[in-house]
Amino acid sequence: MNRRESLKLIGASAALAATGRLIMPTAAFAQAPADAPFKLPPLGYPYEALEPHIDAQTMMVHHDKHHAAYVAKCNEFAKEVPALATTPIEKTLGDPAFVPVQLQQQVKNNLGGHWNHSFFWELMKPGGAKEPGSALKSAIEGSWKDVNDFKERFNAAGEGRFGSGWAWLVVKDGKLTVINTPYQDSPHMDPNGAMPVIGIDVWEHAYYLKHQYQRGNYVDAWWNVVNWNKAAESFRKAAA
Ligand code: MN
Repeated sequence: MNRRESLKLIGASAALAATGRLIMPTAAFAQAPADAPFKLPPLGYPYEALEPHIDAQTMMVHHDKHHAAYVAKCNEFAKEVPALATTPIEKTLGDPAFVPVQLQQQVKNNLGGHWNHSFFWELMKPGGAKEPGSALKSAIEGSWKDVNDFKERFNAAGEGRFGSGWAWLVVKDGKLTVINTPYQDSPHMDPNGAMPVIGIDVWEHAYYLKHQYQRGNYVDAWWNVVNWNKAAESFRKAAA
């Protein structure tokens, strides 16, 4: 961290002390070098934009530290395995055979982490639509009783994932299904191919500052910030 960034952070702490709200400067994170193949995508909104459902400090640490660490690791691996830089991430996750066996697990962890988080930031939005658009809504109603029934199933998948992982709504075998995955495993790793439509990070780092151990409270709150337009776009791609 350089002096300017330190001063920005001190300023943010002062803002928190004065107002009780953490207003963070955007883009204070360490960006990968310009020639690095993997880059941390910027959040499309300020850290505090998803409050009160997800707090600014969680967003800052989650994006600028956790996600940045996955990106840095991916760039390290790309030095050893240059094909990582030119292969679409989804393809590598689905078939990492070109990666040396001793690196495969670490590549999956970090490349999966990079893909999952990039997807996750876009899947949230302040003040978005409150429910899925018509095509996705009809498809959900074809697989569950109604949208609330689906949400209950999805919440159970998130709350039921033991330890760290993700819950997903995916298109698999031509229909919508709820799954969960451990660690940073991605639907793209499914041998029969599963295409993610929505996904929630249920690692403790995604919620413990605000919701402590209460994962269920976080999952409930998360529905308030879902970007249903992004979900609709993923659904169109998955169903194509
Ligand atoms: Mn995470």
